[in-house]
Amino acid sequence: MTCEELMAVLADYVGGELVVEHHATVKIHIDGCAKCGSYVATYTHTIRISRALPKCGQLSAAFEAKLRAALAEHLGEATS
Ligand SMILES: [Zn+2]
Repeated sequence: MTCEELMAVLADYVGGELVVEHHATVKIHIDGCAKCGSYVATYTHTIRISRALPKCGQLSAAFEAKLRAALAEHLGEATS
């Protein structure tokens, strides 16, 4: 697995339930790659924090579209 493949896997799991640290091929990569290791640690920590927040109801469609666009842009920057 390359750094680029790892970033693609992370993007796939944004809304999923998988804890990326437990994904075997991800684990093998981050064990040998300090850059991705710290990225994945930050990423999974952020997911855990956000899941612990109280639910606040449905986002408006306009806000959700804006948020998704900002996230997609951010993830695109992370892979370049
Ligand atoms: Zn890497």
